Amino acid sequence: SLQQPEGDQLPRYVRVNTLKTTVEDAIDYFKREGFSYLGQAYRLDDLNLKGKSFVGDLHLSDLLVFSPKTDFHDHNLYKAGHIILQDKGLWTCLCLPAYLLNPPTGSHVLDACAAPGNKTSHLAAIMKNKGRLFAFDLDAKRLSTMSTLLLRAGVTCQQLANQDFLKVDPDGPQYKDVEYILLDPSCSGSGMVCLRDEASPSQNEQDKRRLQALAAFQLHCLNHALRFPRLQRVVYSTCSIHTEENEQVVAACLLQNPGFRLVPLLLQWPERGLAPLTKCLRASTTKTLTHGFFVALLERHTAERLEEQ
Ligand code: SAM
Repeated sequence: SLQQPEGDQLPRYVRVNTLKTTVEDAIDYFKREGFSYLGQAYRLDDLNLKGKSFVGDLHLSDLLVFSPKTDFHDHNLYKAGHIILQDKGLWTCLCLPAYLLNPPTGSHVLDACAAPGNKTSHLAAIMKNKGRLFAFDLDAKRLSTMSTLLLRAGVTCQQLANQDFLKVDPDGPQYKDVEYILLDPSCSGSGMVCLRDEASPSQNEQDKRRLQALAAFQLHCLNHALRFPRLQRVVYSTCSIHTEENEQVVAACLLQNPGFRLVPLLLQWPERGLAPLTKCLRASTTKTLTHGFFVALLERHTAERLEEQ
């Protein structure tokens, strides 16, 4: 089995911004610069890259994977918004939620806790900038960073608001066609390798109280999301490894909202939600070579249009 990698030993994930370029063009650009493309990855081992080699991700077609210390912050493609980066191998967890929500072109989508907008820009790319993308965040400063990021990424279908999602009225006329919601609320961040306290994830009383407060907030947000009248699907994601913020939130929500059910996600993904919520995904440094995270997809039972995963 793999050793537990440190944050700076995780592969470097790069998302190609398909609003500005194509994956093929980005690959060609890197090849011209002396990087060697080894093709699509098939096994986790293929992501153990060295030097200037890179591969296509195991699951996501617009994701390229480079060796851990590759730095693209001064790279032309990054400055031009053609590729989007995040330090320390975070990209799979940042990309999966929008990829799994998969809103069609022209749909109305809501990103509930959106700043700094990594997932919002990915949603816009999936929607080809067509439709409406309502994005909320409580934090004005993070929202202004987000405007810059979205501008650079060429996103134009968004409507940003510095607002508490819990106070957004689901019956507001502007939201009557919202069918897709991405909910990525504040969490403990315990899945982030750099933040993790290895010895005692939730040991002391203060941690426990904090976790309880976060879980109550997360459940409140998820219940609120399900109140949008035409909602078909909601993706719930955290970068936490604590079941209190993950499976327990989703299980409580399903109990309180019998009109919704879980959609089984990526059957080939190696790490599942804790039983009985195995339809959800988990990730970790050891099993998926990413930071720890959790993703669930809930859909309305009566959904007439069930899209394939
Ligand atoms: N989805 C973002 C991305 O991919 O870039 C990251 C979101 S971060 C995990 C959680 C965000 O939720 C923070 O920016 C925080 O300010 C925001 N937030 C917390 N409580 C909120 C609330 N009640 N309504 C709206 N946003 C909230």
